[in-house]
Amino acid sequence: MNTPSPKKISVATVWLDGCSGCHMSLLDMDERLGELATSIEIVYSPFVDTKIFPEQVDLTLVEGSVSTEDDLTKIRLIRAHTKFLVAMGDCAVTGNVPSLRNPFGTQQVLRHIYLPHAPEEIVPHLLLRVLPVHQVVTVDLFLPGCPPSADVLYYTLTELVAGRTPDVKAMTRFGK
Ligand code: SF4
Repeated sequence: MNTPSPKKISVATVWLDGCSGCHMSLLDMDERLGELATSIEIVYSPFVDTKIFPEQVDLTLVEGSVSTEDDLTKIRLIRAHTKFLVAMGDCAVTGNVPSLRNPFGTQQVLRHIYLPHAPEEIVPHLLLRVLPVHQVVTVDLFLPGCPPSADVLYYTLTELVAGRTPDVKAMTRFGK
């Protein structure tokens, strides 16, 4: 179901080039997810069965960096259909682990992994460089951490739902 109830904030979560740890951190909110469910509705996410990004989403949390042509297409489409976009976790914020391949170039990396050559039909088309999300589209809020803790994610979501901008400095009290 991708049409939110009238008073709920529509939320999407997206998984680009990341390890899914940031999504695991969302699940680590545990019983607080039930509380959030009274004010938000997940309309697109690895957690739900929606296959097409909705026409208009209030808030999208993006895990992972932009590493492939598919990622590039996806994040541009998502930005065009999202009011407020959050880069969730260090891979989205800085490139982090996926960007470790940048100094070597795509061909050398592919050769190293798929000797003697990569099977074209199943390997995504890699960009020449892994990019953090803000180098491709406008990001409204950066949430560093690998992953950001469940406390940070809960604080961020409750502040945004209340119509406030989360105080990133205040998040240091949660640790990471
Ligand atoms: Fe995984 Fe850390 Fe990247 Fe999140 S920021 S996707 S936990 S490596």
